[in-house]
Amino acid sequence: MDLVDAASPEALVKRILQAEPNLSVPVPIQDLCARLGILGIEDLDTDEFEGGLVTDAKRSEGTILVKRGGEPRRRFTIAHELAHFLMAHHVPDQSGRFMCKSSDLLRVTAKEGDQRQRREVEANRFATLMLMPPHLLRGAMAAFREPNLQHVLMLARDFAVGKEAAARAYVQYQPERIAIVVAGNGRVQRCYRSLSFPAIISAVGSPVPTGSLYHSGPHQPNIASDIAACSSDLWIDVKRDLRAPSLYEQVYLQLNNFAMILLRLEAVPEESAEERRLDEGWRHRFHSGRR
Ligand SMILES: [Zn+2]
Repeated sequence: MDLVDAASPEALVKRILQAEPNLSVPVPIQDLCARLGILGIEDLDTDEFEGGLVTDAKRSEGTILVKRGGEPRRRFTIAHELAHFLMAHHVPDQSGRFMCKSSDLLRVTAKEGDQRQRREVEANRFATLMLMPPHLLRGAMAAFREPNLQHVLMLARDFAVGKEAAARAYVQYQPERIAIVVAGNGRVQRCYRSLSFPAIISAVGSPVPTGSLYHSGPHQPNIASDIAACSSDLWIDVKRDLRAPSLYEQVYLQLNNFAMILLRLEAVPEESAEERRLDEGWRHRFHSGRR
């Protein structure tokens, strides 16, 4: 496989998918590694790092190190390290050895000019795309209708990825305006939004808003709740001159005190021409009156 000049994770994945048109789900990541020059995958016995890669300067071959743990997590780490191996411009901190922490495996944005962070972000993009190839993900999502956390759980199960990785992909491929907030111990940890979903007003580290469905439990762990309407200013900044859009919440509580909260924003109904005319009339009179 000629992967030499793939400069972005997207280009690299595209190249691999062209060479492997009949990839099954879950993607056999260990087999792929073996075909791409990884000699072995070994357990990593340290709490400090989640994964690593030992390789030579030319990257002709390598060994992936991965912390023991659940299968979805291991698979993501393996795919992440495979990216470091295949992307020639990824430079390790110490010669011949990449070592990645759990914070590296969660990184989705990099500070400008920070090459280390950039390479971690790229490795995560690669892992996400490789484990959930766009064409297979679209196929799986074609059966889904209204946004629902059940779908995230199904994707996580079928693609053998973590729930958060599935949530990230789900938000990206769902045509509706949705966001998934990841909460840990009652506080907002991360938020993944579709392009058209506005920024949420709760900063990272702040408590989940009191009025949220999250607090009106008890929710049964590991079962997605019903979907319920909530006040739209709970999570987003509602402009006063706009009609408040409808916002819906759904909660999925895990046993480890983590939760996913799905937010869905419903389009504001278009103003009728008549309403707009009246509105403009008012505004016009108001402004004229002040002169
Ligand atoms: Zn890494």
